[in-house]
Amino acid sequence: MMKETKSFQLVSRENKKEDSIVQVNGPHGTIMIGQGYCTIIAGPCAVESWEDYLEVAVFLKQSGAHILRGGIFKPRTSPYSFRGLGKEGLEIMAEARRVTGMPVISEIMDLRDLDSLYEQVDILQVGSRNMQNYVLLEQLGKIDKPIFLKRGLSATIEEWLLAAEYIVSGGNSQVILCERGIRTFEPYTRNTVDIGAVPLVKMLSHLPIIVDPSHATGKWDMVIPVAKAAIAAGADGIMVEVHQEPERALSDGKQSLNFKNFQGLYSQLTALACLENKMIISEK
Ligand code: PEP
Ligand code: MN
Repeated sequence: MMKETKSFQLVSRENKKEDSIVQVNGPHGTIMIGQGYCTIIAGPCAVESWEDYLEVAVFLKQSGAHILRGGIFKPRTSPYSFRGLGKEGLEIMAEARRVTGMPVISEIMDLRDLDSLYEQVDILQVGSRNMQNYVLLEQLGKIDKPIFLKRGLSATIEEWLLAAEYIVSGGNSQVILCERGIRTFEPYTRNTVDIGAVPLVKMLSHLPIIVDPSHATGKWDMVIPVAKAAIAAGADGIMVEVHQEPERALSDGKQSLNFKNFQGLYSQLTALACLENKMIISEK
């Protein structure tokens, strides 16, 4: 008879009592994620053009964001939707990284893109749709860059932590979890944000957890309150989508903050005593 498979171990709080800290090596130094530092990851859903991306990147750098996001290989429900710029997007992102000095994060969907993404980005994102792509997770366990693991659309906490276990047991302990909402019967919001996942994951695991209020709600005017709730619940930071003109974004405009609203978000999080006390960047 087969023995019952054991649940997550290496990522469990039992295995390691103290919070883990993930070190992101950007062009201008190391950014810590976890242990109470509050990290703001921001940027458009997708890298759309040289001009727009560089403008958003410079704005976000000046406005206090720590890490720059942007999809280059986009998972889209319809094959007719904009699926990212591919290789050119990588060049644009590399330029934004150089100009701003910010570390960058982008999603990997296909192992054939691993080498080029590894060269250009500081954190590799595994999207919700790929959380259970075990071949991908196994390979990411073999590299020495942080992995940002989004919760699957309908993944239980245990399934999510087991997905993290694949990466950590493969040899890469630099994993950041991201709660981005789960699919429920509620159609008003794109997903249902599971704020309870934040303290629960903190109890069950030592890994850092970040909340993405953009994908979690699908509505830009819910992003700020949900971001505040996430930080109040103990999240190690947030990931938000920002576009200079959300109305003309090629993807996820409805959930993207414009520049003014990003500044509002930043000042409200600062008021939560989050940023100044908890954020450290050690310059190289
Ligand atoms: C994204 O961050 O752009 C994205 C596609 O998110 P998710 O995988 O959470 O849907
Ligand atoms: Mn998006």
